Amino acid sequence: MKFDLAYCLSLDDKLSIYDVRDLNFDETMAFDSAQEHFQCPNDACRLAFDATNGLGTFNAKNVNYVRTPHFKNLPSTRHVEGCPYVSLKAPASGVEAEAEDGPEEHFPSELLLTRRQYVRKPHSPAVTTDVARDEAITSSADNSVEHLAQDSAPDKTSVFAHPVECFVSNFEDKELLKRMPLKIGEHTATYGAFFKKIEYLQDNNGLIYWGRIKEIKDYTQSFRIDFEKKVWFEKKPYSVNVYLSKKLIDTYRKRKAFLEEIKHAIDSGRALYCFFYGVTPELKQVPSKKNPEQTFGVFSANIENLDHLIVREAPGLEGK
Ligand SMILES: [Zn+2]
Repeated sequence: MKFDLAYCLSLDDKLSIYDVRDLNFDETMAFDSAQEHFQCPNDACRLAFDATNGLGTFNAKNVNYVRTPHFKNLPSTRHVEGCPYVSLKAPASGVEAEAEDGPEEHFPSELLLTRRQYVRKPHSPAVTTDVARDEAITSSADNSVEHLAQDSAPDKTSVFAHPVECFVSNFEDKELLKRMPLKIGEHTATYGAFFKKIEYLQDNNGLIYWGRIKEIKDYTQSFRIDFEKKVWFEKKPYSVNVYLSKKLIDTYRKRKAFLEEIKHAIDSGRALYCFFYGVTPELKQVPSKKNPEQTFGVFSANIENLDHLIVREAPGLEGK
């Protein structure tokens, strides 16, 4: 078991490790997880100790990760007796080491398409406007134990990398992926059904499409991602690609991290996969380079939101 959330002292809020990654790479937000203090998400436990009793992070700042990011206990981390996270202690035991290296266990039940807002709050515990918020925290604290007891506790995320990591790291467990629900917008399906191989994109609109990348074409100011598999339409195979415009990249709040990710992808020579949500490639006629008089068909889409596109290694998906 990994921590689903951790309390972040400076934001006075509970974050998933994917929220933390999103904040680390966000150029509009002054946030560096290496400088932040994270504590046990169980309020009663956290309040029993001072701020020096913290948690560590794993893969919080690594742009290109393979192993599942998570919060972890440090050798010095203490929990109160009865804290649901207490069993995570004893990092020296083999069981714990295995758990830390294992797949993502916290499946968000919904991907929110509106980005979560983080507000750094000044420390003023007695302000009236904070009352409603304090009550909200108290009521969620009251049922935190019960909440944890269900291993598919409903929760939401606005970070696309989170459901993608659930899918990638649990890829071998088809039964689990068929069981876990995911909602995006008005559409609800299981993880298994929501993630659609790119070659089957005609089956349904509005899914998360994924496939192994054949090539990333670097046009200096824009990029085109070509997929290895082709789509069959009227008994003919067609290439599939997605296009990332200069404007989209230039205005992206995580531009630096994104360019680093893409550059690493182009240079790495490793098997890479692309996941995206929000657009469905459609058959288009494009002019041939060699002979502009001629056109050829390709399934293509312009990506509209880089928050819903990921290029990454996924060793568990190789050969699929
Ligand atoms: Zn605790």
